[in-house]
Amino acid sequence: MQYHSTRGTAPILNFHDAMMTGLARDGGLYLPLTVPTLSHAAIKALRGQSYEDIAFAIMQPFMGDTFSDAEFRDLIAKAYAGFGHAARAPLVQLAPNHFLLELFHGPTLAFKDFAMQLIGQMMQAALAKSGDRITIVGATSGDTGSAAIEAFRGLANVDLFILFPKGRVSDVQRRQMTTPIESNVHAIAVEGDFDDCQACVKDMFNDFDFRDGVHLAGVNSINWARVLAQVVYYFSSALSLGAPDRAVSFTVPTGNFGDIFAGYIARKMGLPIEKLVIATNQNNILHRAIATGAYKTDGVRPSISPSMDIQVSSNFERVLYDACGEDGAAVVALMADLKAGGFSLEQGSLDFLREAFASGDCSEAETLASIAHSYASTGEVLCPHSAVGVHVAAGYLGATPMITLATAHPAKFPDAVQKAIGQRPALPPRMAGLFERAERITCAPNDLAALQQLVRERIIS
Ligand SMILES: *Cc1c(COP(=O)(O)O)cnc(C)c1O
Repeated sequence: MQYHSTRGTAPILNFHDAMMTGLARDGGLYLPLTVPTLSHAAIKALRGQSYEDIAFAIMQPFMGDTFSDAEFRDLIAKAYAGFGHAARAPLVQLAPNHFLLELFHGPTLAFKDFAMQLIGQMMQAALAKSGDRITIVGATSGDTGSAAIEAFRGLANVDLFILFPKGRVSDVQRRQMTTPIESNVHAIAVEGDFDDCQACVKDMFNDFDFRDGVHLAGVNSINWARVLAQVVYYFSSALSLGAPDRAVSFTVPTGNFGDIFAGYIARKMGLPIEKLVIATNQNNILHRAIATGAYKTDGVRPSISPSMDIQVSSNFERVLYDACGEDGAAVVALMADLKAGGFSLEQGSLDFLREAFASGDCSEAETLASIAHSYASTGEVLCPHSAVGVHVAAGYLGATPMITLATAHPAKFPDAVQKAIGQRPALPPRMAGLFERAERITCAPNDLAALQQLVRERIIS
């Protein structure tokens, strides 16, 4: 399996190198040259299998010879062993034909654990073979950071730097990043918003002296290996509801477009998905893009669903590549327009997107009402991100079963939940003690040179 960049001029890589590289050297994102498809019979044969067995069947065709089958099965088993639910990604029912896919049973209580635990295992295995040492730098709007820290803490050949927007993550999210004691973990509070953090990381990758000098690797949601790991639960949940004999739709609380892009890949592989509904909070650039064709940035407004407070959704570039007829030069032109404030999609591209995607947005008041409504009508306590999804999904219910992704555990966002239902959700027992542990934080300006300096100093000492 070979991977090429959305911008068309970076080297073609195998799975191992695409995973280790993260961002392509031309600034683009890696995609498989062709997406393997599974026949109806092959999908049907996965019914009733364990999450781990489905994961192996879905991901193995993308891996090339990076790992032997036995090795890969072992890495998958280790990745999900620490989850607090035997089904890994259980489905519960919210309303007639509306289901909630609980993706928050991993070690940091958000769906990011599905990809991060696996990429942690895969990178560790690959580095053990090569003897290399890497520096991982990632930006987080809250949940990626803790998921990465949980996956890489204490590893001998990895230094991990997580940039997060100072004051814009929840206390639980911050403490999950700042309380681990391992010295290879560095949580950096940046004076800026998530888009600033993400831009800094991108600039580090585009500075080749720095990139090669510190052996930079990326585990942000643009990393192909992370997208791939997320494809699995689209299959496992759809199979539970009768796929491939019956189509399903998904609604996905969306920020950086990584999670829903995995759904798009599942659809390309042959899973019968009718619609993928993009659910945004008040930062609704993606909803506006699908509704009007205009992708225009207008600044981030902090919300109670902070992991979706994003304007520039990195992974949207991947679907734009397909929407532009796999024309790397066209993607380069759109991304240049985006730096200058935005672009308008051509009708053909917009039609392409609307065939697969629908969209909706959810205000702050609607998010709180959604939490309250789910609690009153089902007893299910939603996190604010999942509540955005459930609110948007309600507009698309019909004959096709709808699966809304619950992306985080409500206890990660107790203030919003309390505001909605007057109760604070309890942290699961394995998180007890989070508020007693000492925090280690480094503050830094929103400045590329200063952040690069900090990384260099820390990896030497
Ligand atoms: C990261 C995150 C999202 C957004 O996912 P993307 O893949 O960035 O679209 C939604 N909800 C929660 C809780 C998250 O942590």
